[in-house]
Amino acid sequence: MSAGELRNWIEKHKDETFANDAVGTGCFSYLPGEVVWAVTKRCNLKCKHCSIAEVSGEELTTEEGFGIIEEAAKLGHVKFAFTGGEPLLRDDIYDLIEYASSFDMQVVMATNGTLITKEVAVELKKAGLERAAMSIDGIGNAHDDLRGVNGAFEDVLRGMKACGDVGLATQLFTMVTRDNYSELPKIIKLADDLSLWRIYLIYLIAVGRGKAISEACLSMAENMKFFDYVADKQKEVNVWLKPICNPQYWAYLLDKGLVDGEDGIEFTGCTAGITRFHIFPNGDVTPCAYLPAKAGNIREDSFLDIVRDSEMFKALRARKVKGHCATCKYKQICGGCRSRAYATSGDYLAEDPVCWLGDGKGKGEGEGR
Ligand code: SF4
Ligand code: SF4
Repeated sequence: MSAGELRNWIEKHKDETFANDAVGTGCFSYLPGEVVWAVTKRCNLKCKHCSIAEVSGEELTTEEGFGIIEEAAKLGHVKFAFTGGEPLLRDDIYDLIEYASSFDMQVVMATNGTLITKEVAVELKKAGLERAAMSIDGIGNAHDDLRGVNGAFEDVLRGMKACGDVGLATQLFTMVTRDNYSELPKIIKLADDLSLWRIYLIYLIAVGRGKAISEACLSMAENMKFFDYVADKQKEVNVWLKPICNPQYWAYLLDKGLVDGEDGIEFTGCTAGITRFHIFPNGDVTPCAYLPAKAGNIREDSFLDIVRDSEMFKALRARKVKGHCATCKYKQICGGCRSRAYATSGDYLAEDPVCWLGDGKGKGEGEGR
């Protein structure tokens, strides 16, 4: 594929490619913002990379959840995402969705998909859910192996079909690791065959249970190759391939001359703590699902006060990043993945360790992790 061909592809698909309509604005995006509430850490699967496994404390109540929803609605037409654990394990999930959708917000859900029967899909739609993201990390046993439960792959396929049958839009989340890298072409083909409109290809951040498999994280050199693969593959398929936990993908496209940066699209790069806020089941507010550093707790302060006053969020908004991210010409449109920085150094403002585009450019193959 030539640069010109990919540029043409992006130009042709620009509206859907960058539409702010997905489950999760993810890691290179723009306003409006996104409030993500992990309603429970309970789950029926045992994923090797589960980011929430270490969270403790009592789940927020239905009333506390209503309070979060009311406060989030004051931020404007934001996206409100329910996630977990497995959010469908909460008995009050339909009430929560219905309440959220009574406000002017896009209401979406990230689920492992295995509990979605036809009846569940009908209830989700009736409650006002706009779309659901489901995870597929491999085909058949490869998925079941990473997810820790036999039959999970068949169950998620059934869940996707059930959503499709009731007109509930779905998209895929796929964890990208050394262990399942060879599955990517098959997953992308499946998504294209199912006419899905996007896959979030999520870099493994070594938090929660993921710490035990940190060796499966792509190195800098592997991440470079992954970007080349995604950009190349994009030309063949209709489903939009969106790298997540990799805000430098847009910078990469610019660096390669595949986009010109003058098309009116403004990227904020990593949105953690800037337009994206995560609430853990116990009420802790953090910048991102993969960044378990607490800015406050909604049982102690109001969500909006935390968003406004937290020193962590102020530093992230001011993009006080360090190392090669501080001096990088792409700092404002990328900023580096703050979760990856935190997971590898303990400092959420540290440089992104797998990026080669800033001062890290030219580091040897395999360095940077
Ligand atoms: S050096 Fe940092 S800010 Fe620059 S492109 Fe890489 S991750 Fe983004
Ligand atoms: S911290 Fe990483 S995963 Fe979270 S929004 Fe930023 S780039 Fe994405």
